[in-house]
This record gives sequence, structure tokens and C-alpha cells, in this order.
Amino acid sequence: MPELPEVETVVRTLNSKVKNLTIKKVKITYPNLIKTDISIEDFENKIKGRKIDNISRIAKHIIFELQDLVLISHLRMEGKWFVFDSQTVYDTKHVEAIFELSDNKMMVYSDTRKFGTFHLQEKATFKSQNPINKVGPEPFNSALNGQYLLDIMSRSNKHIKTVLLDQTKISGIGNIYADEILFDSKIHPEKRASALNLEDYERILKSSKKILKRSIDLGGSTIDTYQPEQGIDGKFQNELKVHTRKNKPCYECGRIIEKIKVNGRGTYFCKECQFLY
Ligand SMILES: [Zn+2]
Repeated sequence: MPELPEVETVVRTLNSKVKNLTIKKVKITYPNLIKTDISIEDFENKIKGRKIDNISRIAKHIIFELQDLVLISHLRMEGKWFVFDSQTVYDTKHVEAIFELSDNKMMVYSDTRKFGTFHLQEKATFKSQNPINKVGPEPFNSALNGQYLLDIMSRSNKHIKTVLLDQTKISGIGNIYADEILFDSKIHPEKRASALNLEDYERILKSSKKILKRSIDLGGSTIDTYQPEQGIDGKFQNELKVHTRKNKPCYECGRIIEKIKVNGRGTYFCKECQFLY
């Protein structure tokens, strides 16, 4: 599943390839992709002829800005965007949407698992509508600080890792990065969110920004998303300190990294460096 750094990488790649091109024609081949209450024909017609002004991101939602409309794409498990020259022959097996663009380009959305979604909404109001209105602020939001995290997270008695993965509280932290952030901030993943203090939350925020930024700089990680076509060539995975390192020595203290399940998610941590009490 792509996480925030990978989605940011996809957005940058798409901007470099299709920004300012015009959508000449759209063909939706998997109608369930569209989550807006609109017929496929209407969807295709509304988008046709529009220029792609910009591609941006809110948490893990990719936002295609099409004048007064936005197309919101969420990749979920396996969604992928590809850009080809229009003559290119490609494997159509998992293709769900085909966009013919100006400049003889073709933009294709493909999804082997079929969990990805499209929403088509008004640019003026989409932030107050589902799905974007449910998205919590991301670590890079300048309004976010340790006190905010303390206020919204410490009311929960769940494990801190579970709360960090709750996208309505803070967005953009997925399973890989939650492990790395908690290792960096020296907090045990099973510590209760209610047991953490302001200083802990300040450390979590600082580590979140540091680790996500580093991963974006390196083109994300590619544990299960190796997609050089989308720009994800994933050098960050070489810098993972705990995630996927079960039974290997901790880089800080030499103790063996352990793997447990936290709320069903595989979780890697160092018992020596990350304190439970
Ligand atoms: Zn350690």
C-alpha cells in the first residue's frame, strides 16, 4: 500500500508529465471506480475538454485540478497511474480508466485489487465533503504542534501506534512509517496514547516530519510498491531502522528487533530503545 511519501512521489511525477495538458477524452472501463453519484457517461462528459491545471495532494488523496472541478483519486492498495505516448501498447488487463490527453499523451489508471476510488467534485467545496472532510491534518501542516496531538490523541486509551494510523486524527502516517517514527521518538508501539505527555507528542511530531521528508526526498520506499514508472524507485527502504528488520540487531543498541502485532498490523520495534513505561 502506498504511503504518503509514495503518493507525494506519484503527484510530482504526474505534474512533470501531464500538468497543463488537456483531457481530450475519458473512458471508464470499471464503473465501480467512481464513487460520486453520477452516471459514467456524465462523468466522462464533464471531464472531457478540461485542462489539468495542477496535481496536488491532501494526505493520500491525489487531487487533479480541472478548472472548477477536482478529480480526487485514492490509490488504496494497488492503484497506479501511468503516462504513455499515445502509440504505446500497454497491458490493459487491470486498467480502469483511460485519459486521452493533448500532446499525444495517454494517462491510464490501473488497479489489480480494485479498491482505488475516484470522486469528482466542485473545487470550491470539495474540502468540506467526503472523503476530504474526514482527513486529519498531516504532520507538515504548520498549524500542527505537540499540544494539538496531545489534545486529540491522549483522550484515547488505544496503543499509540493504532492512534497514529487513524487518518482522521493525523493523516499520512502508514504502517511502515509509524514503526520508524516510534523508534525515532523512542516510544513503545503498545504504549497507551493516554499515557504519553506533551514532550512525547512533540517528539512524535518532530520524528514524523523528519522521516516523511527524508522518504519523499528519496522517492519513497518500495517494500510493496516498486513503481519506477510513477517515480517510486524507493531508496528510503535502505534507511529503515526497524520495519522489516525482525531478528536483526538494533542500529542503536544491538538488541534484536522484535516483531509483534498491534491491532492486527505487523509491528517492528526495539525493546531496549523504545520504552513501555
Ligand atoms: Zn535498540
